[in-house]
Amino acid sequence: MGNVQYNGSLELTALRGVGPSTKAKLARLNIFTSKDLLLHFPFRYQDRTRSTPFNAIQINQEQLVTGEVLSISQSSGYRKSLLIALTDKTGFLNIRLFHFNPFQRHQIKAGMHMRCFGAIRYGHSGIEMVHPEYVLSETAPPEPSPELTPVYHSTEGLSQNKIRALCNQVLDMKWEVPSTKTAVPDTPKGAGMFTKVSDAIHILHHPPPDISSTTLDYAREKVAYEEFIAHFLASKLAKVGAGQQLSPKLPSTLQLGKQLLSRLGFDLTNAQKRVSKEILLELESDQPMLRLLQGDVGSGKTIVAAFAAVRAAENKYQTALLVPTEILAEQHFLTFSRWLAPLDISVTLLTGKLGKVKKRNALKAISSGGAQVIIGTHALFQSSVKFYDLALIIVDEQHRFGVEQRLSLRNKFNHSSGTIEQATRPHQLVMTATPIPRTLTMTLYAGMDISIIDELPSNRLPIETRVISDNRKAEVINSLNTICGKGNQVYWVCTLIEESEQIDSTAAESAAAELTKCLPDLKVGLIHGRFSTADKNNIMQQFTSGQLDILVATTVVEVGVDVPNAALIVIENAERLGLTQLHQLRGRVGRGTDQSHCILLYSSPLSITGKERLKVMRATTDGFRIAEEDLKLRGPGDLLGTRQTGEQLFRVANIFDHAHLMQDCMIKSEHLLSLHPLICKEIINFWSDQKQEYTDV
Ligand code: ADP
Ligand code: MG
Repeated sequence: MGNVQYNGSLELTALRGVGPSTKAKLARLNIFTSKDLLLHFPFRYQDRTRSTPFNAIQINQEQLVTGEVLSISQSSGYRKSLLIALTDKTGFLNIRLFHFNPFQRHQIKAGMHMRCFGAIRYGHSGIEMVHPEYVLSETAPPEPSPELTPVYHSTEGLSQNKIRALCNQVLDMKWEVPSTKTAVPDTPKGAGMFTKVSDAIHILHHPPPDISSTTLDYAREKVAYEEFIAHFLASKLAKVGAGQQLSPKLPSTLQLGKQLLSRLGFDLTNAQKRVSKEILLELESDQPMLRLLQGDVGSGKTIVAAFAAVRAAENKYQTALLVPTEILAEQHFLTFSRWLAPLDISVTLLTGKLGKVKKRNALKAISSGGAQVIIGTHALFQSSVKFYDLALIIVDEQHRFGVEQRLSLRNKFNHSSGTIEQATRPHQLVMTATPIPRTLTMTLYAGMDISIIDELPSNRLPIETRVISDNRKAEVINSLNTICGKGNQVYWVCTLIEESEQIDSTAAESAAAELTKCLPDLKVGLIHGRFSTADKNNIMQQFTSGQLDILVATTVVEVGVDVPNAALIVIENAERLGLTQLHQLRGRVGRGTDQSHCILLYSSPLSITGKERLKVMRATTDGFRIAEEDLKLRGPGDLLGTRQTGEQLFRVANIFDHAHLMQDCMIKSEHLLSLHPLICKEIINFWSDQKQEYTDV
């Protein structure tokens, strides 16, 4: 394969072993091109390079062992299993297989050598290894693997072996990452030990057995460095030309905003008033707005966005509201419809799951100007979407969309067909709930104006947070009766335990089963990543409307869902989540007027940082303070083991771990733009997310 020319967007189906079904599974991991596989790094490595003698085996650890088969027996009991007794020179070990077929039963014979990789547990018959991966040999013991074995995040039906093979296939091709190296001398601190990004990428997939965690960190830094450069290049290019193009002036003509305000049923907080004023004032000018609206979860950004959309509508212009998930799109659609219908402003929904007829109608309304506020997901990027006279783009939960995407959206919208002149461009408002330490915000969003909502609505009581060991789970479950008895609702969140979404979902399924059994009077719903979008929406709808008391979920509930009646969130294995993610999850409650609680269940033993993180969560609900603590608590190497989640700003770079690279990258990107403009486009293209091109409306 060594001579296959790889280009950044090689279709996955061009790879061996990728048909439509694998392609769909990869899409769930946000892998759409071969490049995405290159950048899909292992989140940990298994050491299968040495066999552990039986007398040196450690409980609860994954190990490679090699031994000779002494005997095989099949146990009946409540669960059938195959028990294989092994011996090496130092002792004995039992291997237990729960899932086995007759072929395996007859293939394994006494006297054979068996190499197994798996975790050692206390089982029915003392110490045993339960369904390991294994290799058999008739003669000499099989050789251990010479390299560390990568473990990738995966999804149901996609085995580690399969995803490993796919990554290897791409790694073996001839590929190059457009890099700054050729253009500007490249010496970030640790990352400097790698001259080429491609070397760092290779190392991250296949580190040599003796690699230090520092070297792995440097490799990650190298990749992050390039990604930051791409980000700054894209941001700078977004600014270039801004001076030449103007945006429509959106003065207050009909006072529709005042009407909306008078019907809301609540008063705006001072912070909401301040930022609304900032935004509306800027919309009156023909200077294109490029503004970040930052505000903690629950701080009430949506209504501020609505005021902006109303302003565009009363000037007879369209607004596009772009959101990262269909659940959120539907929720905003309902909210906006409720707010804007009395003002005679039409709201239209466009998501990937709309039926043919609805989609056609939506597209027609959008292109004819009949639709005034258009709310949608990635589906808005489709070429079939033609705006009539778009004057405002609002992006909610900004973290899911790269700058590049907003850029492409804006360019596309430059060609509105209606009353807008060709040379105008829409104003842009970008909303984010990801609290970022202020210093980083200034760097990351240099070139954008920033509005901050630093206050929660006054009717909110601060969420009370408790940290409880999971051996008191029964007590916690019991207490749900009290909460739901008062008419409140509960989120029960299961976090990732293993590398695959499958096991994650299984954990949620068994949690739901347990809660259903223990709480016969309550209605328990379940939602996780393996549900179809329709099913997810359906369950969310039931929870929102109060038909369910408890919603058991994996972290899919994380983004922006608003159910004010939910007053308790229980997070299992909270020690596995990063602070930012915990904070986002906790923000699902405390949205109504009732006192809300958050219970963080942990399983022992806690690591030192794990303990610190939970302590911070108990001490404060201030997102910005939590972000600062997050920055402090990150140490080198901490990235490994904490799951990278979908709500990251970057693919590889982590603003907390790699904050020290940012300044350097910003300066370097300026040099690049002035000295080597050609490579800049290539760099941006390589790092940009191409999801929209692969999502069908
Ligand atoms: P976020 O900033 O996380 O997007 P939302 O806009 O979803 O927050 O607002 C959360 C909830 O608070 C919504 O139910 C919203 O209607 C309500 N809300 C917003 N502003 C206020 C306010 N000033 N007073 C009371 N409730 C408010
Ligand atoms: Mg929101």
